[in-house]
Amino acid sequence: MKKGRLFVVSGPSGTGKCTIISRVMERLENVSLSISATTRAPRAGDVDGVDYYFLTEEEFINRADEGRFLEHACVHGYYYGTPLDPVTETVESGRDMILEIDVQGAMKVKEKYNEGVYIFILPPSMKVLRERLTGRGTDAPDVIERRMNNALGEIAYIDRYDYGVVNDDLDSAAEQVLDIIKAEHCRVLDGEADKIISEYGEEN
Ligand code: ADP
Ligand code: 5GP
Repeated sequence: MKKGRLFVVSGPSGTGKCTIISRVMERLENVSLSISATTRAPRAGDVDGVDYYFLTEEEFINRADEGRFLEHACVHGYYYGTPLDPVTETVESGRDMILEIDVQGAMKVKEKYNEGVYIFILPPSMKVLRERLTGRGTDAPDVIERRMNNALGEIAYIDRYDYGVVNDDLDSAAEQVLDIIKAEHCRVLDGEADKIISEYGEEN
């Protein structure tokens, strides 16, 4: 059976990753979204086990020590990590998996998983990014300031990504991510050529 593909989506906080991914998920059937673990407090509306697994710092560190994360990183002052088993199980079962993780985490996944597809979501401008962070209404002013300060450092990683999508108009940005996913399914992966050639070697 053909394995699923791993799509890693990063970009500054407030750029619209979550909004784009939920649009994309509505349009695709064979894809799951990884649920990360975090030590940050739930925001209004966040559901444990749906949006994140909310853990204490001790629980998080224990799981990290047990090797239960594909990657983990400290982002904006809190720990975030991708549980390993769901990623392996999903990809092995032939479903695609989307990870919405920060640049540090994405670079760690890239070291382990070179067949991943790395997509960076850019805001139209820093001014719009601030408006979105403020408009979302979920973060205190000091948190917004910290996220704005981190944004340029994250954008500096753009050259390590396969694709950059500017989230100006939401419909177009979601469409572009869908197009990337579709195109990646046509990619001839390392080691696949021999299998394809041998399949065509017999007329049946
Ligand atoms: P992220 O997941 O990158 O932190 P969100 O998806 O939470 O960002 O989006 C941040 C805010 O910006 C939300 O209030 C969302 O509704 C809004 N938003 C996202 N994309 C767009 C867009 N293309 N145009 C206008 N507002 C947007
Ligand atoms: P938020 O607190 O706004 O939900 O997420 C803050 C940042 O943490 C975002 O940049 C998001 O991509 C990142 N993030 C979420 N989950 C993970 C994860 O499992 N690993 C890493 N490295 N970053 C994550």
